[in-house]
Amino acid sequence: MAAKRQLVVQHNIDTGAADPKQFSVSFDGRYNANRLTSSYKSWQAASQAYGVAIENNACYQYIIGLAVENKLFWTGAYLRNKGYNIQCPGHTGCTANIPYMQPQSEPHMAYDIAQQLSREDILVKSLTTDGTPHNSIV
Ligand SMILES: [Zn+2]
Repeated sequence: MAAKRQLVVQHNIDTGAADPKQFSVSFDGRYNANRLTSSYKSWQAASQAYGVAIENNACYQYIIGLAVENKLFWTGAYLRNKGYNIQCPGHTGCTANIPYMQPQSEPHMAYDIAQQLSREDILVKSLTTDGTPHNSIV
């Protein structure tokens, strides 16, 4: 993705952009769930969520950023079933990065991607989303 981001910067330089490190970006979340509804919060039934950002500067719509929110850690679930007090996430080797009962958050994943981009001094000039309400996915 870093190489793709540099291709976009070069495209912006070639097309005379005032600031070639300003990107036009589209973002949405993808969910790993066997059902898309929850009694409590939208998407809470998903075990994993992927935030995907693509660029709209060049005509290729390169993927320039990814974020993952994962509730799954097989070993943690196995040890809990054996009676051990294992809290995911937070222990050595854990692949979960959010607690099981916490809903995934598109704003949080978008923020993670913006932080990744900022490390390369890339700024999101404009953002297109599907308008997923912030109050349903916290
Ligand atoms: Zn764990």
